[in-house]
Amino acid sequence: MTRTAAIAGLLALSLPAQASSGLPFIINTWGGPFTAATDAAYLSLQNPATSALDAVQVGCSTCERNQCDGSVGFGGSPDENCETTLDAMIMDGTTMKSGAVAGLRRIKDAIAVARYVLEYTTHTLLAGDLATQFAVSNGFPLSNLTTAEQAARCTAWREDNCQPNYRINVTPDPKSSCGPYTGTALNSTSPAYKRAITPDASQTSHDTISMIAIHASGIMAAGTSTNGATWKVPGRVGDGPITGSGSYVDGDIGGCGATGDGDIMMRFLPCYQAVENLRQGMSPKLAAEDAVKRILRKYPEGSYGIVVVDKYGEHGGAGSGWTFTYAFRGGSMNATEVVSVPPLNETRLVMQA
Ligand code: ASP
Repeated sequence: MTRTAAIAGLLALSLPAQASSGLPFIINTWGGPFTAATDAAYLSLQNPATSALDAVQVGCSTCERNQCDGSVGFGGSPDENCETTLDAMIMDGTTMKSGAVAGLRRIKDAIAVARYVLEYTTHTLLAGDLATQFAVSNGFPLSNLTTAEQAARCTAWREDNCQPNYRINVTPDPKSSCGPYTGTALNSTSPAYKRAITPDASQTSHDTISMIAIHASGIMAAGTSTNGATWKVPGRVGDGPITGSGSYVDGDIGGCGATGDGDIMMRFLPCYQAVENLRQGMSPKLAAEDAVKRILRKYPEGSYGIVVVDKYGEHGGAGSGWTFTYAFRGGSMNATEVVSVPPLNETRLVMQA
């Protein structure tokens, strides 16, 4: 999603929290190609034997297989070494148990492996090569996550001196050169230090599917799947597999899914915050806005989007830095609907002008 799209959002009217369309209910980050995931998850719940966890897995794995907009699953968001690694988590709103994988290599089915972590271990998060080993030992096939298109993109990026990238305070100058890089000396007592460690605003393309499901019985689950940030430093893990950041659900209250600059967002646990806001009595829309505003106070320049739903299916969203959209389908709806959320930061600028 682009900042140009964010300008278009200026013209949109602020939408109130939307009433529930009934149960079962599916809601997730982004419209467009992500609505195939909404539909798949919603349709899976037409069979009452399908659980809310199953529906979240069906929805997120739909994006992992068809790649949605390239930001989920294989073949997207290569790191500096041109490797795609996957982050995913899935959470049970009844037990509050979550399972997740971070920096998963050479395995396509990230959300399914996260489900294995949830169901076949007492852990919450497995990472890197050993998460791959866990997946293989449970029967998941190894595959190459790099596509020919991605390899060509990497060649072009290197020819362009590795621009953009996520390095700061290193030599050679990361704004004009590829690595290898070495850190420069920093003085943490100098006034310039805070500026030195503040990353540039979102530089590269990224998105994520985060989904919440409410079964006809009212039982809730949530999950996230992403290939992270394009040109990330190898080893980088985003907010996606972090419980309370990528997504969060408490079946007594509601759930939340997030997308955006994960390196910043995970410092604020926005989905945990939003569900706690619901618990304090806020509407889904206000709960989402408050969680995003907490990030904006410290990092006004980033791109953020969260969608929040209460246990009855009333929903709302908030975003900043882009026009965030979310998709939902519930009750007897014949098709998924997409809600466009005007960016909070742009709205604020207009109101101040
Ligand atoms: N949150 C994801 C990450 O930082 C990317 C995104 O949703 O845009 O890994």
